[in-house]
Amino acid sequence: MEWNLAVATGNKHKLAEIASLMETSPDRIWSPAQFPGYAEPVEDGMTFTENAVLKAAALSQHLRSNHAGHVIFSELRHRPLWVMADDSGLAVDFLDGKPGVHSARYASVDPASSGNAPDEANIQKLLNALDGVPEIQRGARFVCVLATIEMVSGSVHCFEGSCEGTIAMSPTGDQGFGYDPIFIPAGHDQSMAQLGDPVKSTISHRAKAVALFRNFLRFRPI
Ligand code: IMP
Repeated sequence: MEWNLAVATGNKHKLAEIASLMETSPDRIWSPAQFPGYAEPVEDGMTFTENAVLKAAALSQHLRSNHAGHVIFSELRHRPLWVMADDSGLAVDFLDGKPGVHSARYASVDPASSGNAPDEANIQKLLNALDGVPEIQRGARFVCVLATIEMVSGSVHCFEGSCEGTIAMSPTGDQGFGYDPIFIPAGHDQSMAQLGDPVKSTISHRAKAVALFRNFLRFRPI
């Protein structure tokens, strides 16, 4: 049966990647811009899973309680509607897993509570933290947890993907977003930002998590 997917992210890069990875018609993918009044919650979870569930739950709650959201939800009632949120980030071995859940806010004054910092500032702070650290000790991984909520039953399912690699000495490439210019995926000698979507869409943390969700949908009765 045809489903619809409401993606709880204000990050246009994540939204574009998820929409493309789902390989479906664009009119089945809904974004917060289409749900007036929805505000992203504070991401104060300690893990990617906690934050992903928090974001998915906030949008699902908004769809149930907000009038505009409820109208859309009611219109879609004859087809399954899933809410999905992505929480992701970069875990660097030498930094004991940092920046981790604080990846988007790493260069902010207080990464635990401030708003997001520009990608360039986050990259520079990470390169400074790894100054003088040799390639062998620059291991890292991207992690993505997708939390999904089926709106009729309220059932919650999480899917996790990761992508191993190393942190480059300097940024290269102009595709992707976030830490892509300094992340060299295992088995490659270019950054994710140089490799671009043809490669990223087959090996990334998000691609792996979306593949698990698509597989789950395939074997689900509704
Ligand atoms: P959040 O999930 O919105 O809290 O933020 C995730 C942050 O992790 C992004 O702002 C990026 O800095 C980083 N990140 C997550 N996924 C990727 C990716 O695919 N490439 C590069 N950076 C990423």
